[in-house]
Parts: sequence; C-alpha cells; structure tokens
Amino acid sequence: MDFSLSELTQASENGAGEEEVRVLILGSGPAGLSAALYAARANLDPVVLTGMELGGQVSLTHIVENYPGFPEGVGGMEMVELFQKQAERFGARIEIDTAAQVDLSQRPFRVKTYSEKIYLAETLIITTGASALHLNVPGENEFTGRGVSYCATCDGWFFKERDVIVIGGGDSALEEGIFLTRYADSVTIVHRRDELRAGPILEERARSNPKVNFMWNTVVTEIAGNGSVEAVQLKDTLTGEERKEATEGVFIFIGHRPNSDLFKGQLEMDDQGYLVVDKLMRTSVPGVFAAGEIADPHFRQVVTSAGMGAAAAMSAGHFLDEDVGFSA
Ligand code: NAP
Repeated sequence: MDFSLSELTQASENGAGEEEVRVLILGSGPAGLSAALYAARANLDPVVLTGMELGGQVSLTHIVENYPGFPEGVGGMEMVELFQKQAERFGARIEIDTAAQVDLSQRPFRVKTYSEKIYLAETLIITTGASALHLNVPGENEFTGRGVSYCATCDGWFFKERDVIVIGGGDSALEEGIFLTRYADSVTIVHRRDELRAGPILEERARSNPKVNFMWNTVVTEIAGNGSVEAVQLKDTLTGEERKEATEGVFIFIGHRPNSDLFKGQLEMDDQGYLVVDKLMRTSVPGVFAAGEIADPHFRQVVTSAGMGAAAAMSAGHFLDEDVGFSA
C-alpha cells in the first residue's frame, strides 16, 4: 500500500516516541512533586519531566528550616528525595527529560522533549519555577564557575579560608551568606540600600555572626580577575564614589526570574513573565494548570509551592472528571 508524505509523518509521530498521558507535569521541585503525589493518588498516572534541575531550587538549599513537620530542619536534596519517593510510591513516573517545545493550541497538548519524545497530554501542570537573576556586570559571565557563583551549597567548599562577598539583601543572600561562614574566613554582604529585605530571624543571625560584615549602599559594577576572581569594583550608591575590593568569591543572590519562555504567546503572563492563575491554579488555557514559583511572585516558599502543586493536581482531576467529551 502507498502512503502519502503526511501519512508517513503522522505514522512516524505515532510511533514509539509518542505517548499519551492524562497528567503531564513539567518540573520536579516541591510544586511538581506534590502535584505528582496528588495526581498519582487520584489514579491519574502522572508523568513528571524533571527539567534540567531535579528538585528545582530547593535541591540547592543546604537546609530548609521552615517546612512544617521537620522541627530540626531537613536538607534540601534530602527533602526532594522524600517528595519523589512519596510520589513514586503511589505510581507517579519521573522522567529525566526537559520540555523543549509545547503546543497548547489544542488538546491533547503536545509537548516535545529534548530527547525527542512527544507527550500528548490531556492536562498539563506547569511547575517550571524560576532561575537566579544575573547582575549583568562585566566579568560576571567570564568568571561564573571561577569565583562567581549562584549557589553556596554547591560551591561554598571551594572558598575555605577565603574572603568572599555576597550580593543582595534578601533572605537568600543572608541564608547563603551565613552558610558560607562554615568555610570562608569572612563574608561581606554587599547591599544596594541601608536596610535589608530579609526577615528578622535571618537578619539577627547574620548580625550576630562574627564572620559576617555588611557593606551598605553599595553595588558591584565589575568583577575582575585573571583566570579566576581577584577583585570587585564597588560603587557607593549615595556618593557615586568607586573603589576596588580584593575578594576571591562573589556569590550573587539578587532574586529570580520565572522560567516561562516556553509558554510565551500561549499563556497569559504578568509583566514579569509569571504565569497568571486563578484560585484553582488554572491558567488562561483550559486544561493547563500552573503551580509554585512560576505562578507565584509573592510567597515563593517550599510550603506554598507544595500547596499550590497539590491544588493544581486536584483541579486537573476535576477537569478530567468533567471532561466527558475527550477520550482517555
Ligand atoms: P528577593 O527577596 O527578591 O531579594 C533580592 C535582593 O537582591 C534584594 O535585597 C534586592 O535589593 C537585591 N537586588 C535585586 N536586584 C539587584 C541588583 N541588580 N543589584 C544589587 N542588588 C539587587 O530574593 P531572594 O532573597 O532570592 O528571595 C526570594 C524569595 O524566596 C523571597 O520571598 C524570600 O522570602 C524567599 N526565601 C525564603 C527563605 C527562608 O524563608 N528561609 C530563604 C530564601 C528565600 P532591594 O532590597 O533593594 O530590592
């Protein structure tokens, strides 16, 4: 029998590289794995595409002290492993793969991964989180991995008995700065204002740590070195005065941007690129839900992300229950 080109294309697309799923979850942070747990317990056979970073941002966190149920705190990676184990116990499937293209124009939603697999998803839960913001100053890219870091837990060990600077005045800067005092001789927190954004507990802890110093009303305008970081150029935000400060490590914690590029033009976003969801975690496309930091510029906590993930999975379940017109 003869086949037309389009029939052949269709045939190849219906081959082993294509799979139909009821609930496809993009991202494996607290939101994604909580969504997986709830969807699995609802017998929806969810598939999780981990994305580039299994566990998301929390996996890079040394210790999480504000997740209920862990009075002594829990390691970030350990927490991800527990989340994963619990979701898998009820049948969630975790695939180490990343969505490369999505087509949300019709259902089933079509998601092509970096490994060329195609998922046809009846519902989609987006939990792709956010990534660390860059300072965008000369030397930053050149010295990333050679003195410039966005993760104290990953790189702190390399700065034993060194003097490092931390940029930012939020919870991340303080938490990671305090962590770095395990290794570094001194940690100088460089903040562009004279008041921290971080909460009072972390502020008190940082101020009472003899290895932590603060440099107020100061920004870094350049990172300099020779093969690795040797100094930063600093500017006083009040006087405009500039000076050089020797340092071997620059840790940057100035916030995050949502990982939503994949959905541009397909889902409603706010002006910062966060996905817009309603109380039921529904995005602007019926059948597509979002949870965690991708849809939350306000709270960005493990516990809130996990709650949003659970809510998104329940909403996806309700959507499928009511969706009598669509074949499973
Ligand atoms: P954040 O709260 O947005 O703080 C970013 C900090 O970087 C701010 O102090 C900001 O200065 C500064 N900054 C931004 N752009 C800058 C630039 N171009 N140059 C110099 N400084 C710049 O971000 P975050 O600390 O990553 O925290 C994100 C969220 O996670 C927050 O909701 C936080 O509460 C949460 N979090 C919680 C914990 C915890 O509870 N243990 C730990 C980590 C993070 P300004 O203050 O002047 O804006």
